[in-house]
Amino acid sequence: MTTITLVQGDITRQSVDAIVNAANSSLLGGGGVDGAIHRRGGPEILAACRRLRASSYGKGLATGRAVATTAGALDARWVIHTVGPVYSASEDRSALLASCYRESLRVADENGARTVAFPAVSAGVYGWPMDDAARIAVETVRAVRTNVEEIRFVLFDERAYGAFARQVG
Ligand code: ADP
Repeated sequence: MTTITLVQGDITRQSVDAIVNAANSSLLGGGGVDGAIHRRGGPEILAACRRLRASSYGKGLATGRAVATTAGALDARWVIHTVGPVYSASEDRSALLASCYRESLRVADENGARTVAFPAVSAGVYGWPMDDAARIAVETVRAVRTNVEEIRFVLFDERAYGAFARQVG
């Protein structure tokens, strides 16, 4: 049984097995939740990302994919980096956003993670409307078969929390 929980707060303060990062394809850091994770997690995470770029992801991580690194100084064992799609009003990219959640949970399962914290992927700088981002997130994780016991959505503000709360019901 997988439980979905909601927390309003800072994902870098969570104590879980894996923290999902809304990364960009470079894997070399950015703003928003990505910046916060690298700031609090320390240089080990960036060093691991650089190694991944040099070994398996020379062209970067594709949109919708996910990969795990150390969590550095965070209170977690892994950071799972996933690349959300930039929102487009003219093209339906929701399958890619759903893929971020599915792939992140697949990587979590591969590593044996039992508790996983997700931010609202693509709902910041990448411009996804929050209600739709929340619907895709919750519908997707509900449909995944996983050994993860707790999927915790960590929402930065009240508006994001409200959007996810309406989906979880
Ligand atoms: P993206 O580029 O995928 O849109 P962002 O990091 O810009 O990613 O935003 C994704 C979501 O994460 C936004 O709702 C943003 O408010 C939220 N966010 C930013 N910092 C944090 C944090 N420290 N903890 C949890 N959520 C955060």
